[in-house]
Amino acid sequence: MSTHSRTDSPGAGPASDAQAQAQADRYWLNYAVQLAHRSVPSPSAYCVGAVLVATINTTRTCSASGYSRELPGNTHAEEVCYVKIQRGMTNPHVDPAAGVTDADYTWSDQFARFVTLYTTMEPCSERLSGRGPCTKHSLALGVRRVVMGIAEPQDIFVKCTGVSTLMDAGVAVVVVEGMEDECWAPNRHIRPTYKA
Ligand SMILES: [Zn+2]
Repeated sequence: MSTHSRTDSPGAGPASDAQAQAQADRYWLNYAVQLAHRSVPSPSAYCVGAVLVATINTTRTCSASGYSRELPGNTHAEEVCYVKIQRGMTNPHVDPAAGVTDADYTWSDQFARFVTLYTTMEPCSERLSGRGPCTKHSLALGVRRVVMGIAEPQDIFVKCTGVSTLMDAGVAVVVVEGMEDECWAPNRHIRPTYKA
C-alpha cells in the first residue's frame, strides 16, 4: 500500500472537532511508530518515524513519510519527509537514493500551512554532524503544527530545545499522552526504558 494514498478514518458517530483531531493525532502517530521500527539501529542516533499530513478541508492525507537513515547520509525522519516533498514537487526525476544536499531545502510552497508534522520524538535542535537541525528546517518550510510522542532525552546525546524553539516561533506543539513506551521502543538498544 502506498503511503501516499493513506488517509485516516475518523469513524462513525458525533465526534467534536477536538475529538476528531485527537483521534487523528493518535492514528498518525501510531503510523509514525511503525515507520520508526524500520530504522536501522545506530549506537549514536535515535530511531524515529515521521509523517507529514496535509489537511485540505477536513480530509487528512499522508503527504510524505520517513524514518531515521531512510535516505543516505545519516538522515533524520523529519528531514526525509521534507526531502521527499521537495523532490516530488520540483523534480520528480531525482534519484530518490541520491545524497541530500542544500538544494533539498528550498521547499516554499503554500502547501506547508496545511501540514502537520507527526514525529515519534521531538524534532532535533542540534546535530552533532551534517546538515541543519529538523527544527530549523520545519520553521523554514512553514510547518505550523507538530504532534509528537516523546521529548528527546536530555542526558544522552545533546540537550534538545526543539519544542521550545518551535513554540517560540508560534508553532502549535501537541504531545500525545500515553505513547511514551511505543515511541521509545525502537530505541531500546540505546536505553531499555524511556526517561526524558
Ligand atoms: Zn532531526
